[in-house]
Amino acid sequence: MKKFKRYLITSALPYANGPIHIGHLAGVYVPSDIYTRYLRMKGEDVISICGSDEHGVPITLKARNEGVTPQSIVDRYHAMNKKAFEDFGISFDIYSRTSNKIHYETASDFFLTLYNKGEFIEKTSEQYYDEEAGCFLADRYITGTCPYCSNENAYGDQCEKCGTSLSPSDLINPHSTISGSKPILRETLHWYLPLDKYEPWLKKWILEDHKEWKTNVYGQCKSWLDQGLQPRAVSRDLDWGIPVPVKDAKGKVLYVWFDAPIGYISATKELTPDWEKYWKDEETKMIHFIGKDNIVFHCIIFPAMLKTEGSFILPENVPANEFLNLENDKISTSRNWAVWLHEYLIDFPGKQDVLRYSLCASAPETKDNDFTWKEFQARNNNELVAILGNFVNRTLVLTNNYYNGRVPERGKTNSYDESVLSEIGTLRTNVETSLDTFRFREALKEAMNLARLGNKYLADAEPWKIIKSDPERVKTIINIALQITANLTIILEPFLPFSMEKLRSFLNTGQLKWENAGRSDLLKPGHLINKPELLFDKIEDDEINRQINKLLATKKTNETSDVKAVPAKDPVTFDDFTKVDIRTATILEAEKIPKTTKLLKLKIDTGIDIRTIVSGIAEYFEPQDIIGKQISIVANLEPRMIRGIESKGMILMAEDSDGKLVLVSPSEKVNNGSLIK
Ligand SMILES: [Zn+2]
Repeated sequence: MKKFKRYLITSALPYANGPIHIGHLAGVYVPSDIYTRYLRMKGEDVISICGSDEHGVPITLKARNEGVTPQSIVDRYHAMNKKAFEDFGISFDIYSRTSNKIHYETASDFFLTLYNKGEFIEKTSEQYYDEEAGCFLADRYITGTCPYCSNENAYGDQCEKCGTSLSPSDLINPHSTISGSKPILRETLHWYLPLDKYEPWLKKWILEDHKEWKTNVYGQCKSWLDQGLQPRAVSRDLDWGIPVPVKDAKGKVLYVWFDAPIGYISATKELTPDWEKYWKDEETKMIHFIGKDNIVFHCIIFPAMLKTEGSFILPENVPANEFLNLENDKISTSRNWAVWLHEYLIDFPGKQDVLRYSLCASAPETKDNDFTWKEFQARNNNELVAILGNFVNRTLVLTNNYYNGRVPERGKTNSYDESVLSEIGTLRTNVETSLDTFRFREALKEAMNLARLGNKYLADAEPWKIIKSDPERVKTIINIALQITANLTIILEPFLPFSMEKLRSFLNTGQLKWENAGRSDLLKPGHLINKPELLFDKIEDDEINRQINKLLATKKTNETSDVKAVPAKDPVTFDDFTKVDIRTATILEAEKIPKTTKLLKLKIDTGIDIRTIVSGIAEYFEPQDIIGKQISIVANLEPRMIRGIESKGMILMAEDSDGKLVLVSPSEKVNNGSLIK
C-alpha cells in the first residue's frame, strides 16, 4: 500500500436549508470524525474540511415560501448546523460556507480555467420559461407528472416518489412552481462539461485502479459508466449563486453541483496558506466522506473537473455510506420524520457519545440500516453501561478502596495475566485494520472487546474474594485492570471523545498518542487517580417511550396532512341550495335492524314531527350511545322504503378519509327544527 505524507479529509457539505439529523451523522460525519481523530492520534498531518452548501434552488424556494431572503435562510441553518457539529464533537478543522467571498473567487477561477482551456461545450437549448414571473424554471422551479410512476408532483430534477432523476423536459403537464402557470419553451445558452469525453479515463481510474473501493460505491460508479455518460450543464438561469464569470452570462449562475465540491478547496484556502500541499501534492491522500446520494458527484463529476483543471490530486477513496432509516421508515425533513441533533441534546443532555456510539454500531455501511429507540436504549444499557462503564467503575472503585487511589505494583504474573496483556496489542491491531479500510462498525466492536476483556478478567480473577487471603495477587490484578483502562482511553477516543476525556480525568492522565496502545505500563505504580463518577447512566423505559410517542404523534400528523380532500363539486345556484331543507333534530330512539350489519332504525324529533329515518351507520355507533344526541338532517328528501321501513329524510354525516362516519352536530344545543343555512 502506498504510504502518504498527509491526509485531506472532506465531509459532504450539508445543505443549508434544514437542520442536521441522525441520518447525516451516521452516514457521513461520525465516520469521518472517527477517522480524523484516529489519524490525529497517530500523529499524521491531517486536516478535516467541511462547511455549508448554500446555493441551489431548494434554498431560494424556501426563502420564497417564508417571504425572506435566501441569505437569511442560509445564515440561519449555517449557524445552527455549525453548532450541532460542535456539540457532538465533530472536530472539523474548518466549517466554512459557500457564500464566502473566497469561495466565489475560487469557484469563478476554477470555471475560468476550464473555460479558457476550451473544455466546455456552449450550447443553446430550449428550456421552460415562466412568462408571468419573467424567469427560466430550473430544477425544482418546475413540477409536473413523472413519466415513470405518474406522481403528479415530480420536480424538474427528480421524482421523489420513484427516485428517478429527471430533466424538466421529461415532465408531463409541466407547470411553474412560482406562478403555477404553464411555462413556454425559450432558448437559453449554457455551458456543459463533456463527461462523455472523460469516460474512457474514468473507466480506467475507477473500474481498474480503484477496485478496493466499497462495493456499494464501486457498483454505483460501474452502473453509471456502463450506461454511458452525457455532457452535463454546469450553469443555470437563476439569481442565487455564483455568477458565470464570462461575458454575455447575465442572469446565469454556476450550477450548485459545480460550485459545491469546489467549496472543499475554498475552505482549505481559508484554513491555511499552505492549502496547495493538501490539494496538489501526490503524497496527499484525499478521502471524501459522503452519503450514497452524492456518489456520482464525488466519484465522477468532481474528479472529472479536477482532472481537467489539471493541477489537483484526485480522491484516493470515497467511503460512501447507504441510508439510515428511522423506526422502519425513510428519514424525511419535509415529513419531520427524523431525530434532530439539537432536539436530542435537549432530551438527552450530555449523552453525545451514546448517540455517536449507537449510530456507529449500526451504521449503514453496506446497506440501508434502521435506527430504533429500543436498540439505542439497549446499546446504552447493555453495552456502554453494563460492559464499559461497569468495568471502568469497578477498577477505579477498587483502586480507591484498597490503595487510596494509588496504582499498585504489578507482582508476579501468571499465564492468564500474560495472555490478557498480549490481547490488548492484538485488539489494537484489529481496530487499526478495520479503521484503515473504513469498516467503522467492526472497528468499534473490536475496541469494545477491550472493555469486554477487562470485564471478564475481573470476573474471573475475583480480587474482592482474595483481598484478605492474597493481597499481593490483588495488587497484580488491579494493576492489570488499570492498564486495560488506560488503553481504553486511547483505543476508544476516536469513537467516544467525551467519555474518554472524562475517563482520563478519573485516571488523572493526559491524552496519549495512538502508538502507546497495547502497552502494559501506561500507569506507573504510585500514580494517584481521582475519585470516579459513573461514565454512563442507564436510560429508562419512560425516556425511550417519550421518544417513540413523539414519533407516533408525527406519524399521525403526517397521515392527516397526507389526505387529499375530494375535489369540489360543480357549482349550484343559491336557489337550488335553498331547496334542500337542512335542520337540527334529536335522536329519540335507536335500534339495529335485524339481519343487517349497517342499518339503524332511528326515531327522530325534527321540531315539526316525530319520524323514522333508516341510516347506514350501525358499524360506527351503538344505539345506546346516540340516543339523545342532537344532529343535522335533510328533512325533505323523498321518502324511501328500506327493508320494509319507510325512511323519511337523511342523517348528515362527515365521512373521514378512512371511511369513518361522524355525526354533524350543532356546537351548542339549539331548538329542534332550527334551519341550517
Ligand atoms: Zn416517479
